[in-house]
Amino acid sequence: MSIVKKPSKTSNWYLPGILSGMGFTFKTMIKNIFNRDKMPTLNYPEQKYNYSSRFKGNHVLTVKKDGSLRCTACMLCATACPADCIKITASEHEDPTVEKYPINYEIDILRCVFCGYCEEACPVDAVRMGPEWQTPGLCGSDFNYDIQHLAYRPSLKGGALSRVDEEERHKSGI
Ligand code: SF4
Ligand code: SF4
Repeated sequence: MSIVKKPSKTSNWYLPGILSGMGFTFKTMIKNIFNRDKMPTLNYPEQKYNYSSRFKGNHVLTVKKDGSLRCTACMLCATACPADCIKITASEHEDPTVEKYPINYEIDILRCVFCGYCEEACPVDAVRMGPEWQTPGLCGSDFNYDIQHLAYRPSLKGGALSRVDEEERHKSGI
């Protein structure tokens, strides 16, 4: 015995379904036009959502007072990273008081899971997760964030001072 129902003649009529769908869309459009404040969506990019100040977005490499990187290339962040997306190349510094520094620091943001372990692992607040969340790019290499992007992108306005340097400046009263 067949359990497949044969379609009735009226079930071949798609028009009522299409018209009812279009009617619902039109009704919602009119409702939204006259109640823009109550719309559940934002008109991005003109309007942006205000995330919490604790939001962990795109990474920032902080800088010292002279604008150079705070990072000491200790590799703790790269070791803590579960996604293995931080690559650091360390080099000796010409200043004898600085043991080493990164000549290359890259984060493959497409592999990153935004867990925040790198930020937690850093002993000198050299890597931080900032409030920015937009990650546009046209090809794969655009998502490999280098020192120039992480520390000196235009939105950072010359670089974010690390907390270590902020405290020092505070103590010296400058
Ligand atoms: S947020 Fe997590 S996954 Fe992303 S770079 Fe930091 S440690 Fe790695
Ligand atoms: S960002 Fe911090 S944890 Fe990572 S290498 Fe630099 S100093 Fe070490």
